[in-house]
Amino acid sequence: MNQTYRVAIIGSGPSGFFAAEELMGHSDAKIEVDMFDALPTPYGLVRGGVAPDHPKIKSVTLVYERTASRPGFRFFGNVALGREISIEDLRKFYDAVIFAHGARSDRRMGLPGEDLIGSQAATEFVGWYNGHPDYQEQKFDFSVESAAVIGNGNVAMDVARILAEDPERLARTDLTEQALAALRKSNIKEIFLLGRRGPVQAAFTNPEIRELCELPGCDAIVAPEEVNLDPESQKDLANLDPKFSTARNNIEVLLRQSKKGRGEKTKKIHIRFLVSPVEILGDNGKVKAVKVEKNKLMREPDGSLRAKGTGRYETIPVGLILRSVGYKGVALPNVPYDAKSGIVPNDRGRVTDGKTRDPIQGLYVVGWAKRGPSGVIGTNKPDSIETVRLLVQDLKENQGADSPDKTAAAVSAFLDAKKIQYTTFQDWKVLDAVETERGKAKGKPREKFTRIFEMLEVIRSKKRA
Ligand code: NAP
Repeated sequence: MNQTYRVAIIGSGPSGFFAAEELMGHSDAKIEVDMFDALPTPYGLVRGGVAPDHPKIKSVTLVYERTASRPGFRFFGNVALGREISIEDLRKFYDAVIFAHGARSDRRMGLPGEDLIGSQAATEFVGWYNGHPDYQEQKFDFSVESAAVIGNGNVAMDVARILAEDPERLARTDLTEQALAALRKSNIKEIFLLGRRGPVQAAFTNPEIRELCELPGCDAIVAPEEVNLDPESQKDLANLDPKFSTARNNIEVLLRQSKKGRGEKTKKIHIRFLVSPVEILGDNGKVKAVKVEKNKLMREPDGSLRAKGTGRYETIPVGLILRSVGYKGVALPNVPYDAKSGIVPNDRGRVTDGKTRDPIQGLYVVGWAKRGPSGVIGTNKPDSIETVRLLVQDLKENQGADSPDKTAAAVSAFLDAKKIQYTTFQDWKVLDAVETERGKAKGKPREKFTRIFEMLEVIRSKKRA
């Protein structure tokens, strides 16, 4: 097969880059990739989601840089589907399109008081402290003394840790200047991490719970009665496959922590289990407390243990609430979307029609947009490979008509004709170098630009120089 195929990838996070690598390294087909991102910068949640104090996780970008350096790869930043380019345009220019736009919204809880001032989605807080341009106008009230984080997944752990951490330690990370200044003034001393099920069912993983328990300026408090496992949880723990040791190790850490009591440190984080928020209480439109119901665990027909309210309640006074109950997908213009699950409907990555469930030729999906917001960065690799293998198989079976529009030059000409200020991967490397340099002066790995106009201006001025 001598034909060169052209594939567009929408989104430049892990799933998009893993898909690009698999496409370009494919031995059966010669494939060129154009990757589009709404932001001028690449890497999606690696830049805008991974916690600033987890730099090792971010080093995966070195792998993506290698992909970006392959001949036939191009990055078009600051080009959003539905804004600068449409799905019809993409169909004209490419043999296939892969949606890799993740799940950028948050799940609602449907709680009374959820929209009070001071009740915010953890996803907004994460975007804000990581310098994502869409979240820089967000305000978080750190003048209050206590905060609650709802949920106990790894995002909840990240946001709880950022609230509990010593700002001087965060000053050595790529946390933005603005976030650092706000956190330095924070009054928050008590943080409540609210898990609706028990410790065995907690969604956090071992390094995250250990890290939270070992913060130098904050005591992690675990009530012994909440880690005293019910018989069904004990049974699940005993039956766990030894290969899956997360829950067992979590329990060890929590039991150890429960014996330590309140401690002497200024800040306290209360790691709570078996409590479901039922209402957010306010005063003058602003959060003043969260009412929780104590739960017990009930076995479901599918074998899982679900939280069930006991009718016993507790009110926890807090002035800030970060709801961390999961990300949710968003619909892209003219792209199938299942509002209930928040994903692009698909069969192993082939986009399907929401009604007929038939595959739609030429459209594919990877990552959180394909399977929902679960898994760590590495989970996206096999997920993207699955989609790309089907895509290549389909390309080989349906030799698309050759068209003069299906060229790299046609795409550049289209964007230039529309006077779109797109950024290339080389532009990103320029910005990357300036951010790194700015960071060096402050002992940080980088000082991010957080506004799109600033990013474009830096790139323009470096090009002029
Ligand atoms: P997640 O792991 O799915 O956790 C969601 C949490 O919200 C769970 O504790 C869940 O409890 C709880 N929840 C859902 N609905 C609720 C409700 N109505 N009331 C109370 N609690 C509710 O999601 P995530 O934390 O957003 O993380 C997304 C993915 O990114 C995960 O796979 C995570 O591991 C990954 N991630 C990894 C890292 C890392 O590697 N360091 C960092 C951040 C994120 P139930 O379990 O009872 O449903």
